[in-house]
Amino acid sequence: MANSVWVFAEVKDGKIKKVTFEMLSEGKKMAEKLGGDLSAVLLGQNVGSLAEQLGHYGADKVYLAEHEALKDYTTDAYSKVIAELIKANEPSIVLYGATVLGKDLSPRVAARVEAGLATDCTGIGLDNSGKLTATRPMFAGKAYADISFSDSKPNMASIRPNALPVSPPDESKKAEVIKVDVNINPDDIRTTIQEFIKTAGERPDLTEAEIIVSGGRGMKGPENFKMLEELADVLGATVGASRAAVDAGWRNVSDQVGQTGKVVSPNLYIACGISGAIQHLAGMSTSKYIVAINKDSEAPIFQKADYGIVDDLFKVLPVLTEELKKLKAEG
Ligand SMILES: Cc1cc2nc3c(=O)[nH]c(=O)nc-3n(C[C@H](O)[C@H](O)[C@H](O)COP(=O)(O)OP(=O)(O)OC[C@H]3O[C@@H](n4cnc5c(N)ncnc54)[C@H](O)[C@@H]3O)c2cc1C
Repeated sequence: MANSVWVFAEVKDGKIKKVTFEMLSEGKKMAEKLGGDLSAVLLGQNVGSLAEQLGHYGADKVYLAEHEALKDYTTDAYSKVIAELIKANEPSIVLYGATVLGKDLSPRVAARVEAGLATDCTGIGLDNSGKLTATRPMFAGKAYADISFSDSKPNMASIRPNALPVSPPDESKKAEVIKVDVNINPDDIRTTIQEFIKTAGERPDLTEAEIIVSGGRGMKGPENFKMLEELADVLGATVGASRAAVDAGWRNVSDQVGQTGKVVSPNLYIACGISGAIQHLAGMSTSKYIVAINKDSEAPIFQKADYGIVDDLFKVLPVLTEELKKLKAEG
């Protein structure tokens, strides 16, 4: 369908991920400029009730594909269903979250439909001819590339969580739900899910967290990360770590932020006892606000930080946590 903008609706634990609403909010503006409509693509089993929420965030239509083979994500099943939908409906633009799932899914779909894909973008827009434009960090966040697309359709991009603002939902808005016939044979799926092992506990996933409190070698030992956990509890944050802290065995590798860890883009990143090596900055430099606590005023992290505290973190952290607790109690 010419001029239509599609957003892949990512679902985890029965809930739509926030990055989906971020993409719908931006997608709505693009669809209006293009004079087309905005659609969400929702896959899973028993997920139909989530379509309503997608309408509240601006989707005019929801393509709903329900099948037992779509209950849990597999690359083969999801990419097959989405590629067939794209071929049948020919949207102009398709957006995915640059999440763990989206980073796996989007290139597979791009290959199946032979479309261009800009990955891990922090901004999107339209050029004068209505083609997608995208901005993505490169060279470990030292430069930004402006991406334009050729004439092949659709133009596709994966968008980093927390990079785009969310418009308030409009509960009076309803999306038209289009049920999709799913044709999946057992032979189409080459992998099976044996078990899910949760590592992250109750906190939001690092890559989607709005606030991250991160610790490095300056934390001096695993026991001191308790201070960061306490601060994170007050802020509703997730705890991250530098590679030095992970290599020392103080934190799990799934907590590592950086070039060889996770790329994060929270609204607030608090770096405690982290020097700011280029490989660490590669994973967090697109955070909206960066606060650094480091006793060395020459530490490179201060060149990236919006706010810096030059002091001993063992003095600063307890005071900061206490003051934030008081502020929270005051409402
Ligand atoms: C190929 C490659 C990939 C890499 N990938 C990553 C990656 O993904 N993520 C990553 O983080 N690193 C990565 N690294 C490692 C990176 O180069 C740095 O070695 C690492 O980030 C340093 O971690 P750090 O800042 O915790 O430690 P350090 O550089 O040792 O810094 C510790 C900081 O703590 C401060 N400090 C000490 N005590 C206190 C105190 N009491 N109060 C306040 N401040 C204090 C010090 O002043 C210092 O600035 C990679 C390296 C390579 C070569």
